[in-house]
Amino acid sequence: MSEIFKGSFTQQEPIPEAGIAAALEVMRSGRLHRYNLAPGEAGEAAALERDFADYTGARHALAVTSGGYAMATALRALGVGPGDRVLTNAFTLAPVPGAIASVGAQPVFVGVTEQLTIDLDDLADRAGEASVLMLSHMRGHLADMDRLMGICDAHGLTVIEDCAHTMGAAWRGTPSGRWGRVGCFSTQTYKHMNSGEGGFLITDDDTVMARAVILSGSYMLYARHGTVPPEDVFEAVKYDTPNVSGRMDHLRAAILRPQLRMLDEQCDRWNARYRVVEEGLRGTPGLTLAERPAPERFVGSSIQMLLLDWEDGAVEDVIRRCAARGVELKWFGGAEPAGFTSRYDSWRYAPSAPMPATDRILRGLLDMRLPLTFSLADCAQIARIIRAEVGAVWQARAA
Ligand SMILES: *Cc1c(COP(=O)(O)O)cnc(C)c1O
Repeated sequence: MSEIFKGSFTQQEPIPEAGIAAALEVMRSGRLHRYNLAPGEAGEAAALERDFADYTGARHALAVTSGGYAMATALRALGVGPGDRVLTNAFTLAPVPGAIASVGAQPVFVGVTEQLTIDLDDLADRAGEASVLMLSHMRGHLADMDRLMGICDAHGLTVIEDCAHTMGAAWRGTPSGRWGRVGCFSTQTYKHMNSGEGGFLITDDDTVMARAVILSGSYMLYARHGTVPPEDVFEAVKYDTPNVSGRMDHLRAAILRPQLRMLDEQCDRWNARYRVVEEGLRGTPGLTLAERPAPERFVGSSIQMLLLDWEDGAVEDVIRRCAARGVELKWFGGAEPAGFTSRYDSWRYAPSAPMPATDRILRGLLDMRLPLTFSLADCAQIARIIRAEVGAVWQARAA
């Protein structure tokens, strides 16, 4: 009798009790809007911004409604507008090209490597085509950031980092989000902190921050933020910066602050789970895993498997067989977008020439979430199931 996994791949942990208590206090106060403060009160939203700036080491942090909103705001704050071209990863999620399209700009896709990071040779080739790179650390895989920044600096490319999957991660000790001009984060339920929806933008640049704060819908109440550029910087931009409402509220900030205090510990728990699955899958015939480079501190909140050069039908067999045993795998090679998963050639508003090397990776790319509600024993069981089913299909193909 083959074992079946019973857990849910979409079940996160509860909000910590401290967050629930803080949220109740905000609700009792009735002051949920971030600028609705009692005399002398800083408010949860501003406190969260200070906490997040401290955590990342950034001069400024702005809390907003979503990660996608943070990315669009970063683009606007940098002056990206209609007709501009913005380089970004071909392997990413829909909100990334979506943020670029939302400011009227055109996504230009850069390929992916077998290590699931942006292809730096392709980036070097295309660097002259744009002035901004929206770099997505997709599924938590960090490229060689030293080499990447070397390429971008040499070509005058401004980098915005999409850190939706790298909150808590670092390259050579420098946190993700701190390499580029702006770092963008998400606190949507499936990311590393959970407020349902939410996000951050971090930067050291006073002008970018002042613009971002006003863009986010501060009116002239920007002095109530957690980290505030000098007044003359606001004076210089406030008449020319539109209000594109996207504020964080006190309720979600209250939920997030205790989670931020636990974040590093949570990242260790994710990695323990990741390592168990990785260990269990190692040496499975036909299946490869990204090797995590030594300078990368990653957060294993999901794991990716490559069935490189398998026929589509065989990959589909693996997915079906694993699903029958309770293991949900997402496929980045599917011809049609499904669930959260879609491919660069499904984003028809952003046409691209075919990218055969990238297509080869995406065709074999399976993706699995590792929520913290899974125990280490769950992770070992999941790995056994995948190993067995990949092995069965592999053998059938060889026969
Ligand atoms: C979730 C996600 C985003 C966007 O975050 P939202 O808060 O849902 O807008 C951006 N990039 C990647 C890679 C993501 O997974």
